[in-house]
Amino acid sequence: MQLTSVEKSSQRKKSDVVVVPFWQGKSKPEIACKESEFSKWSAQPIRNGDFRGKEGETLLLYRTSGKEHRILLLGLGYRKPCLAENLRKSYASAVKTLRAKKIKAANFFLPQNDLLSQEVILRGAAEGSLLANYSFSMLKSDSNEEESQNALTQLCFVGGDKSGSSLLKKLQAVASSVDLARDLINGNADDVHVDALAAFARGVSEEFSTVKTTILGKEELEREKMGLMLAVNRGALRDPALIILEYRGNPNSKDKTAIIGKGITYDTGGLNMKPTGSMETMKCDMSGAAAALCLIQAAARLKLKKNIVAALAVAENAVGPNSYKPGDVFRSHAGKTVEITNTDAEGRLVLADAFSYIQEKYHPNRLIDLATLTGAILVALGEEATGLFSNDDTLAKELLKAGERTHERLWRMPLFPEYKEMIKSKIADLKNSAGRGAGSCTAATFLQQFIKEIPWAHLDIAGTAYLSDAKGYHTTHATGVGVRLLIDYLEHLDT
Ligand SMILES: [Zn+2]
Repeated sequence: MQLTSVEKSSQRKKSDVVVVPFWQGKSKPEIACKESEFSKWSAQPIRNGDFRGKEGETLLLYRTSGKEHRILLLGLGYRKPCLAENLRKSYASAVKTLRAKKIKAANFFLPQNDLLSQEVILRGAAEGSLLANYSFSMLKSDSNEEESQNALTQLCFVGGDKSGSSLLKKLQAVASSVDLARDLINGNADDVHVDALAAFARGVSEEFSTVKTTILGKEELEREKMGLMLAVNRGALRDPALIILEYRGNPNSKDKTAIIGKGITYDTGGLNMKPTGSMETMKCDMSGAAAALCLIQAAARLKLKKNIVAALAVAENAVGPNSYKPGDVFRSHAGKTVEITNTDAEGRLVLADAFSYIQEKYHPNRLIDLATLTGAILVALGEEATGLFSNDDTLAKELLKAGERTHERLWRMPLFPEYKEMIKSKIADLKNSAGRGAGSCTAATFLQQFIKEIPWAHLDIAGTAYLSDAKGYHTTHATGVGVRLLIDYLEHLDT
C-alpha cells in the first residue's frame, strides 16, 4: 500500500473517497486541519440520527463535486477519554467498510483532539488502517474472490505534521512484519515447517547485512546434548532445529536482548493426544517463533540501535512409533533431568533447552520468551491479555508500559515459590506437568529453573496469538502479537 501524509486539506490529491472523522455527540467534524466543506454533507444524517459518531460507525455519502465523489463519515466515539486504541479500532472499521466496497484509494482526515499528541493520533489511525488491510487468502481456490484484491492500495492521511511521513514509514515497516507473522501462523502446518522457517530466517540475513542466521540441526542439537528438544520431536517426520538470528544494530554496545520463541509447527499433544475440538488450531503453536523472526526483520528495517539475538525453538509434537513417552526421563542441555508426565506440555521442554544454550553461548543481558504455552492462560485472561511472568520488576514494568502503548496488553502473573514444589519429580529433578491447578504459573516456574542470574520475562500468548474469530483490526485468527510489543519495548529500552 502506498501510504502518504499531507499537512493541509488543499494538498490532498483526488481520490475515490474521503474519510471524515467525528467525535460522538458533536454536530460537526473536528478534523486536524481547518476544513468546512464537509459540514453541509454531514448535517442532515446527524440531525436525523442516522449517524451518531459511535466508535467505528460509518456512513457512506455521495456528492457530485469535490476531490472525491464519496464521503465516508467515521465515528470515533467520545472525544474524552480517547486513546490510540480507540483510533486504531475506528480507522480499522473505515478500512473494512471501504474494502467491502472494493474501493482502492482514500484520503483519511485526522481528527482534532487537544488531549492527544499529533503523533499518538497518527499512530493510532495508521496502525489501525494498516493492520485492518491484511487478509489471508492463499488457501482459497477462486482468485477472483481473493480478499487481498480488495485491499486499499493508496492511503493519504490529511492533517498530520511535518514528521508524519517518517512516522508512517516506520509504522508500515513494523506492520508488514506483523503481516508476515500472521501469514506464517495462518499457513498450513504442512507448509510452515522447520525448513520453511529456516528459509525465511536465511532470507532475512540475506536481505540485511546486520542480521546473521545460524541454524542448529539435529546433529548439532545432539552434539550440544539438547535432550528435551530432541525428545519432543521424536515422532515427527522432519528434524528439529534451533534457528538463531543475531541482529547487531549497535556494534558499539555489548548490551544484548535475547528473544526466544516457541516454534512447535504442529502440536497433536503427542501420546497424550489432544481431543477433537482442541487440536484444530494447533498450527498456531509456532506463533512465538514467528513473532521472534518477524521482530528481527522489523528491527533490521528500522535500523533499530539495539542488539538482539532471537532464537526459534522449532520442533513438531507428532505421534509415531518413536514418540517420546509419558513416564520416561530425559536430560536437558542444562544437565537437569525431566520426567515427562504429559507429552502435551512440550513447549516448556524446547524452550528450556533453548534458554540454557542461548545464555551459555550469547550471554544476553536479559531474556524474553514468547510462547503459546498454556491453555490455562486463556482460561485466566481470555483473548484480552498476554500473561506476563518475570523475575525482574523493572523488566516487567517496561514490558507492561509497552503493552499499554501498543495495546498488546500484558497482565502480570505470580511466580510463587510454592509452585516449584508442584513440579518436583520423585524420579528426576523436575516433572514437565503439574496438572490443572495454576497451570500457567507452574509452566512458567518450570521455565524459570533454566534461567541463570539475568532478568527474564515469559509472555504466555496462548490466548492472544490466535483469536477464535476475526475482531477489530485483526482480520484473521492470527494476530502477530509480540512484534509491535517488543519493537516498542526495545525502542524505549535505555541502554
Ligand atoms: Zn502441547
